[in-house]
Order: sequence, then structure tokens, then C-alpha cells
Amino acid sequence: MKKEIFGLTPEELQQEFVAAGLKKFRASQVYQWLYKKCVFKFEEMHNLSKADIAVLNEKFTVMPASINILTRWKSSDGLTEKLLLELQDGNSVETVLMHHDYGYSVCVSSQVGCAMACAFCASGLNGCVRNLTSAEIIMQVYLFNAMIAPQQVSRVVVMGSGEPMLNYDEVTGALKFLHREDVAFMSYRNMTVSTCGIIPGIERLAEENIPINLAVSLHAVKDDVRTQLMPVNKGFPFPEVIAAAEKYARASGRQVTYEYILIKDKNDSPEDAQLLSNYLKFKHASVNLIPANPVPEKGFERPTAKRIEGFLRILQKNKINATIRKEMGKDINAACGQLRAKFKDNK
Ligand code: SF4
Repeated sequence: MKKEIFGLTPEELQQEFVAAGLKKFRASQVYQWLYKKCVFKFEEMHNLSKADIAVLNEKFTVMPASINILTRWKSSDGLTEKLLLELQDGNSVETVLMHHDYGYSVCVSSQVGCAMACAFCASGLNGCVRNLTSAEIIMQVYLFNAMIAPQQVSRVVVMGSGEPMLNYDEVTGALKFLHREDVAFMSYRNMTVSTCGIIPGIERLAEENIPINLAVSLHAVKDDVRTQLMPVNKGFPFPEVIAAAEKYARASGRQVTYEYILIKDKNDSPEDAQLLSNYLKFKHASVNLIPANPVPEKGFERPTAKRIEGFLRILQKNKINATIRKEMGKDINAACGQLRAKFKDNK
């Protein structure tokens, strides 16, 4: 069986190459091609000999070259591109590229599916199939790097399908790899991990002592409503999640972002806005309000623009740093898990 080399450190790559009878220096050449030039096929690495290319092809695979892009959607404004990727074992995950005025960001998946079963999310429809490896997470960024070269992705958000804190080692391993100077040299400040509120994961991340941004999917501040929207609330009640996130903010020096989907008549009342303000007052926090996409089967509707504005004003009156999320890629089902679910339905 061929050995996958994507995501190996230079030392690991060198070991593999020497064991395959190749010269040590080939490892640093291939490493450069992979992570600095985004070239994933050995035959396109021009400084390799034909004999060595034959050995490499016989013994090794490079994940981005062997991934099948099942579907590729571009939003009508051209600013968002979403890929549905078929992994080497036949599972599929989504990944999204967004073009902002400051550069490119990628929203990566961390698991195939998700076990958290949030009511508004298509990723949780069939549970979690498996964790992604760190190489599979890095690969999502590098597929886009190859597409936009010579530009490169400058921000990564772990907010696609899956709960990153339940795949902690692979997710943080991928982010540390992307941070390496000889890889993407991406600043930790440009990385965000988004959790539905897995407290042990938040605590572990705080111990890492690296300034990664933390986002918490909050979405409700009444216990029964949050449990209905996010069953994880039963195991990790949201006031305790906020306390853990605040500790993280203090330890990392990074402001925590609370994601809050506004759903008509569910969590969008002035009372909800006031409660949310009370919970976040004096916290190192900001709120990202996300007007819900209508899901008629679930009875989810988007509040009126007036109601959304009113909610925002109450937060601002309470000196909570809050914004309404700019929608990107709405016409390509850019919300979490929607593409994969749609593809499976059509199969
Ligand atoms: S919102 Fe996130 S945590 Fe919840 S089901 Fe979807 S992927 Fe999982």
C-alpha cells in the first residue's frame, strides 16, 4: 500500500524518503513544492529526476492530487466558492473559500457529519461518520491555495461540518502545521475554532497558550430554547460555556465571538436581546447575529429586518460589541452541511 505523505513534517518526510532509497535532499525539495508552490503531482516537480519520480509514484500518494471534487459551486457574486470533496475512503466533506476585501479565508470541516444534532444544521442529520485527519484539514486549505496561486489563503475558520473540539488533536495539529514558517506561515490570530460549547475542549485550548480565536455557537439564552436548538446544552449548559469561554478570552487575550442565529419568534425577542446582554456584559466578547435562512420543514423563519435591527440596538445600548453577519454565498447553500446533504439526497 502506498504511504500518504501530505501533512508530514520535514523530518518525517525525510525518514520516509530515505527508507524508500531516495536521497535526503529530495525531501526538502518535495516539501517546498507541496507547501510553497502548491504542486501536488511528482511529475510536475521539475527538479526531480525521472527515476526518482517513478519511485515516488510507486511508493507515495499526495492527498490533494488524489481528492475527487464531486461538486463545485460559485456564488453569483463570485466571492464564495464551495467544494464537495470525495475523500480517499469515499466519504465526502464540504469546504468553502470566501474572498473578502482583506484577502481569502477558508471555512474547513473537521469531521464527516456531526454528532451534535443542532436543529438548524444539515451536518448533523446523519450523525458523525468519522473524524478528519489533520492532513485532510490542511488539504482543504491547500486545494484552494492551488486554485488562487500566487495568492494564498490568509485565514482559516474551523466552522464547517463537525465539532472541532471532539476532534481536538487533529484540528489543533492542522492549525499548528499551517502556522509553520515552512508551510503557510499563517498567524494564529487569523485562525478561528468554532464550538457548540464543548467545555473540556475550550479548557484545553486555553492551556495551549496560542492566540487562536474562539467562536461559540450560542443561538439562545433561555435554557429550554437552547436545548431544543442545540441538544449539547443538556451536557454543557450555556452559562458554564460562557464562563469557560471568558477564561479562554482572558488566557489568550483574544475576544470570543458568540454566534447567534436569529429565528423568528424563537430567540429574537427584545427580552432575548436583553438576556443575552446580561450574560455578556463586561465579558471580552462580541456577538455575530445571523439572520436565519428559512427552513419550512422545521418551522424556522427569518425575523423581519426591523426586528433584527431592534435586537442589535438593544445589544449596542448595553455596550455589547455586535454586528449582523454579512451574508456570503447564500445562493450556493453555503450554510454548514447543506451541500453534502443535498448531494446525498440526489444520489
Ligand atoms: S452546527 Fe456545528 S456542532 Fe451543530 S450539528 Fe452543525 S456542525 Fe455540528
